[in-house]
Amino acid sequence: MRRRALLGAALLAAPALAQAAPKVVVIGGGFGGATAARALHRLGVSVTLVERDATYLSCPFSNAVIAGLREMEAQRFGYDGLRREGIAVVVQAARTVEERRVVLADGATLPFDRLVMAPGIALHPDAIPGLDTEAMPHAWRAGPQTLLLRRQLEAMEDGGLVVLSAPANPYRCPPGPYERASLIAHYLKTHKPRSKLILLDAKDAFSKQRLFEEAWAALYPGLLEWVPLSSGGKVVEVDAAARVVRTEFGEHQAAVANIIPPQSAGRIAQAAGLTDRSGWCAVDPVSFESRLRPGIHLIGDAIIAGAMPKSAFAANAQARVCAEAVAALLRGEAPAPPKLINTCYSLLEPGYGISIAGVYQPKDGLLADVPGAGGVSKPGAPTAVRAAEAGYAEDWFRTVTADAFG
Ligand SMILES: Cc1cc2nc3c(=O)[nH]c(=O)nc-3n(C[C@H](O)[C@H](O)[C@H](O)COP(=O)(O)OP(=O)(O)OC[C@H]3O[C@@H](n4cnc5c(N)ncnc54)[C@H](O)[C@@H]3O)c2cc1C
Repeated sequence: MRRRALLGAALLAAPALAQAAPKVVVIGGGFGGATAARALHRLGVSVTLVERDATYLSCPFSNAVIAGLREMEAQRFGYDGLRREGIAVVVQAARTVEERRVVLADGATLPFDRLVMAPGIALHPDAIPGLDTEAMPHAWRAGPQTLLLRRQLEAMEDGGLVVLSAPANPYRCPPGPYERASLIAHYLKTHKPRSKLILLDAKDAFSKQRLFEEAWAALYPGLLEWVPLSSGGKVVEVDAAARVVRTEFGEHQAAVANIIPPQSAGRIAQAAGLTDRSGWCAVDPVSFESRLRPGIHLIGDAIIAGAMPKSAFAANAQARVCAEAVAALLRGEAPAPPKLINTCYSLLEPGYGISIAGVYQPKDGLLADVPGAGGVSKPGAPTAVRAAEAGYAEDWFRTVTADAFG
């Protein structure tokens, strides 16, 4: 009797998935991939994470590193938390994806029943003639480029011109160039006050524009100038050695130039035949399954997510929804239509934060804004409100990194 009761309890406790032992591989251990691996593991799925680097450097808050407000080590996260939970972590680049198996850089293969890919972005400096990213760093992936740009700012003479260029849509982190311009302006104001910053933009409008412009007028008058596309904001060519930046309307002699090139989905997505003519990956907005290769799911910056921006917050939210969908599909069930949230905070000087938030749901094959949900920080708000938002940004960073990396 007792034996039968124990057997019954064991059967109840055993996750249904364990019987079939389906295998899921996740490529990319950034905000999207690390979150997805942990969420899948919690759902009882056997998961292996493949990540090129032994540790991850976070782009969120890396603009503060460039401006000397934060150290790089505060951006670094490892995978020991995932390993302790029982997730297999393979530190190696994935080379390509064959039928139901991932081929690693050393030639070894990992079979999968379903694959989740979160490879982030590829940058295309070749799209700007003359661009040499050692002379004119993009710093759009956190790492040596971040520190190179910081060192160039530190080495520059007071009175120099910093030229920053923002790409056309779509690209990683829509408010990122404007946050960076603000924090570099803060650095110049406090360390090199005779200097100036020009932000050349390949667009005529940008995220949280009214709030940024309100803050720039108050914090950096005469120091920070935004040049939209229609006034000559598009960079057409550079002379990297001479630090000259040419636009459709003229040229700028920079002391430091930070040119952010156009982007596409990470290279492995292209190698695996997952990108369309836009260079990004189209997915089903309920399951995040590729429109081009069934059985492969994509999340994060690499995908076309309709109204949802390319942010760490979005990658993290998509990862959790995708993990639920993958687990449901492995059980033979249909995934439930999700609602996803995104909030992007920007820091304009220490203690001055603003945000934009949105809620998204599947509509006509894409993720669309839920009407009436979300919004931006109030223009004209008192400094105490801006200080509170700067604090929320720090809280968000602690929460999202704990969710992704344990
Ligand atoms: C300056 C800046 C500031 C930002 N600030 C914010 C912010 O405040 N809030 C916010 O929400 N977002 C912010 N972002 C955006 C955020 O960094 C990205 O949206 C986020 O990192 C996307 O996550 P992901 O997982 O899609 O890609 P990533 O974080 O880039 O991760 C991709 C991972 O895949 C790995 N990889 C790629 N190819 C392979 C391969 N072939 N094999 C194995 N591994 C591979 C990479 O090594 C990397 O670890 C900012 C971005 C920038 C540049």
